[in-house]
Formats: sequence, structure tokens, C-alpha cells
Amino acid sequence: MNRRVILYLCTIFAVGLAVGTGIVLANHPWICSGNTAYHWSGTTVGYASPVEERAGGRAIGRNRQDYVNAFNGSVSVWHTGTVMNLVSGTQLRLYYDTYGRNGWLGLATIYPSGCIITRATSKANDSYLRDTSRYSQTNVDHVACQEVGHTFGLDHNRTETNTCMNDTILTAGNKINQHDKDQLASIYAGLRSAQGGN
Ligand SMILES: [Zn+2]
Repeated sequence: MNRRVILYLCTIFAVGLAVGTGIVLANHPWICSGNTAYHWSGTTVGYASPVEERAGGRAIGRNRQDYVNAFNGSVSVWHTGTVMNLVSGTQLRLYYDTYGRNGWLGLATIYPSGCIITRATSKANDSYLRDTSRYSQTNVDHVACQEVGHTFGLDHNRTETNTCMNDTILTAGNKINQHDKDQLASIYAGLRSAQGGN
């Protein structure tokens, strides 16, 4: 039986209506059960180049290259200086499309077996992000970066503004911080040696 778990970046936060909710996350793993975060079986994850999903609906309004750049930048950021080893493959799919005005700017979906992620998708919603007067490239980068970060087992981080994992802002762009790296190291501790590397 295939199970699906999602996290999203909501449009409410994008227009700043719901900041200051008082939620403090000192740690931010995407918890599966107890203290265990959702995680891949190892630190090497194969990703496919970002493409339009063609799920239906309207034609893309924004320059496609904006999404491609955002996702490629995100892959680079999460790969560099973290425990994740991102290689060409098909486990993680990166999509943009007009998904409708459904409340989310970006969506991360993981398909876990128990707490082990078997495949994942990260999506950017052009139905909102096509509005270039409202959403800058930095904003699109922030969305892509967060949705990719979720697929490694990270939840939101609302206590720091220098990371795309903060879902109350859109201004960090393709930036992650030391806390994100530490969280990944913690989630994947013990799995790295099985990969034969660091
Ligand atoms: Zn999110």
C-alpha cells in the first residue's frame, strides 16, 4: 500500500498575514514516529532535472527558466556542505506547473515505507508564482529550496530567518544555515558509514 505524506509552503505566509504564530521549533525534523524523522535509506539521493509536470490546467505564466534555476540552485545548496549526496537519478522529482489557486506556493510529498522515504516530489505552483510583480526570483528560490529540504526529512524552522526552511518568510531564497546542516547530520547519523563516505 502506498502512503503519501505532504508538507507545503502556504500562500497565507507569503503575504505575511499569519506571521507571529508563536510556534517555536528549536529542532525541526519532519517526525515520522517518536524521535525518528522521515529519512532516505542512505545519504545518496538521485534527483531528476526540474520539468513542467503537465498535470493539466493553464500554460505556465512565468519564465520556465526561473523554476529550473530555482530547483537547480536548491539541489546545489542542499548537496554542498551537508551530508546529502545528490546525484542524477529518479528518486526525487522536481516539478513546476499551474496547480491552481489551492493555497500552496510549494508542496513536498514523500512516499515512505515506515519512516524510510522511497521517493519524493517537490513542486512549485505557477498559479501564484507566475505573478512576477509579487514573487521575485528570491521568493521562487525560497519555495524550491524549502520543498527540496522537506524531502530529506526536515520540517519548518520558524526561529531563524537565514534559511529557506522558515515558512513564515520568502526572503531567504536559496539559503540554508548551520542548523539545517546539523539537523541533517543528526537525522542521517549512522547511515553515512553504510554509504562508505562522509
Ligand atoms: Zn514547507
